[in-house]
Amino acid sequence: MSFEKTLVLIKPDGVQRQIVGKILQRFEDVGLKIVGMKMVWINSEFAKKHYAAHVDKSFYKGLEAMITEGPVIAMALSGLHAVSLVRKMVGKTEPKSAEPGTIRGDFAHHSYEYTDAKGKAIKNLIHASGTKEEADAEVALWFKDEELHDYETVHEKHVF
Ligand code: ATP
Ligand code: MG
Repeated sequence: MSFEKTLVLIKPDGVQRQIVGKILQRFEDVGLKIVGMKMVWINSEFAKKHYAAHVDKSFYKGLEAMITEGPVIAMALSGLHAVSLVRKMVGKTEPKSAEPGTIRGDFAHHSYEYTDAKGKAIKNLIHASGTKEEADAEVALWFKDEELHDYETVHEKHVF
């Protein structure tokens, strides 16, 4: 019922800054379970599928350039209320407004003011599905069934 899977991407800026481990640690610490994970360098066609909701927006060109500029770490995380929990941990889209304690708030400080002037996308390290429906569609877009794994973590003994 409240168990959900959600898609997280560590974007090229996070991979190139070599903070994959630090970001991943936060999700493991809270007890979320990694049920799928891989490194992928997506092309323009796949970017349009992933960000289909944004292709007509003014910032899309910059967004596609940003998400295709290097490999990303894609992961499917599972847990209770995983979608909203991960969004809370990730923080607001604009790192400048993201609260301290969130991933975007702690590791970045890009602002809309800066990206609007430069015609770039906001660099905010991470993507996380926004809703349960988005999560189901995104996990299916990024992972084949055989790339998703079912196993028990120690958290399950203590949380459920
Ligand atoms: P994501 O979908 O990547 O998790 P989000 O859900 O917080 O981010 P969205 O509104 O879905 O935000 O936007 C997708 C991505 O497009 C953002 O993460 C950011 O990189 C970029 N973006 C969104 N709005 C703007 C904007 N106004 N100017 C520049 N870049 C933007
Ligand atoms: Mg989004």
